[in-house]
Amino acid sequence: MHDPLPGALPGTDAADVLIVGAGPAGSATALTLRAAGVPRVVLVDRAAHGSPERAALRVGESATPNVGPLLARLGLPDDLGRLGHRPYHGNLSLWSGDGETADDFLRRGSGHGWHLDRARFDRWLRDAAVERGARLLAPATLAGVERRPEGGWTVGLRDADGRRSVTARVVVDAGGRRAPLATALGARRRRLDRLIALAVEAAPAAGPAGGGFRGRSFVEAVEIGWWYAAVLPGGRAIVTLMTDDDIARAAGLAGADAFRSAWAATSRLRDLVPPPEDGPGAGAAPAVFSAASQHVDRAVGAGWIAVGDALIGFDPLTSSGIAGALDDALAAADTILRWFSGDGAAARTAAIGYARRAEDTLRRYLAERTRHYTAGGRWPDAPFWSRRAAR
Ligand SMILES: Cc1cc2nc3c(=O)[nH]c(=O)nc-3n(C[C@H](O)[C@H](O)[C@H](O)COP(=O)(O)OP(=O)(O)OC[C@H]3O[C@@H](n4cnc5c(N)ncnc54)[C@H](O)[C@@H]3O)c2cc1C
Repeated sequence: MHDPLPGALPGTDAADVLIVGAGPAGSATALTLRAAGVPRVVLVDRAAHGSPERAALRVGESATPNVGPLLARLGLPDDLGRLGHRPYHGNLSLWSGDGETADDFLRRGSGHGWHLDRARFDRWLRDAAVERGARLLAPATLAGVERRPEGGWTVGLRDADGRRSVTARVVVDAGGRRAPLATALGARRRRLDRLIALAVEAAPAAGPAGGGFRGRSFVEAVEIGWWYAAVLPGGRAIVTLMTDDDIARAAGLAGADAFRSAWAATSRLRDLVPPPEDGPGAGAAPAVFSAASQHVDRAVGAGWIAVGDALIGFDPLTSSGIAGALDDALAAADTILRWFSGDGAAARTAAIGYARRAEDTLRRYLAERTRHYTAGGRWPDAPFWSRRAAR
């Protein structure tokens, strides 16, 4: 499975490792490789660095308590409060029909997590990679990748000046759910469901109703899926409906009116974060994101490796995306360092170990996902829930 790697490639546009995607997985991989002394690490992202924080609605703000220790392993400060993020103490949910339940992280014996300003968190990780000496090319989009006959890769990039190419000994797919590099190399994406997220920002209720869930995430199951809300560091709340794309289409939920009516029909969410008043033009249409569970059929190949959502995309119910991305980064960097060690047997073992780790993660995750959805089976015959029932 593992061909010998070429030695250092010549030229100013040559990298030891080129990473496509500077989200949490890519930035963490870059900074780990730099900290281990890999000289030329190039991080590529199609989004411009430092674009305005509030340019677009961002999802993925709940960092579970295991994110802090992962940041510490990356050599980063884990006190995110100093960086403007807010403590996240646990979850409130209306899930199984037993009324509202609270799951406090303290009772699980773990510390608290963080409600992140996601744009700021991602930028901070990128900056840390650059401070450690990674080179950031952004905005630049992957336009093609070819194996060089003499070993390594030629990676085509599209940027403001047109097309350029960079050679690299190893390439990393950290490009998120579309897995742009792994799929260009022939890996297949397996989508396991059709979950989408419809999200808006809104003002939480003033007084005790809204205050009661500050520092907590709230989840409410409904017949067509589940709602999620959390107060963001800036004081606004994110409100998200998770459902399947066909269910959303049939009910027109991507429209402002239908979305607001579904929100107004919730039992508890509507008290915590009231939907906008009825009336023409009230409320914004939600932004729509894919939230499907998915994975690529190959985690690693000769001279390439996938991390983060490019490897496995988790259902947001498990809030495991950020921790998974950072953990993948540490494991992938360790694998790449073994490839560079010059010991062929160690390199092969490392690649096999990484592939097995991905299979184990996927197996554990799918069991957890089934357990969560089975516990919430108040509407066993409704399409959203029957599709997720234990079989
Ligand atoms: C609705 C929703 C809610 C979520 N909530 C949570 C949560 O509460 N907690 C949690 O832990 N996780 C959550 N997640 C998951 C979490 O956001 C992801 O797991 C995490 O962002 C994965 O990081 P990543 O670096 O792998 O990918 P991404 O964050 O997607 O980063 C990929 C990067 O690659 C770049 N890129 C993509 N294609 C190209 C290309 N062709 N060329 C160059 N660059 C490219 C993108 O610009 C991007 O910067 C949620 C996800 C969704 C959809």
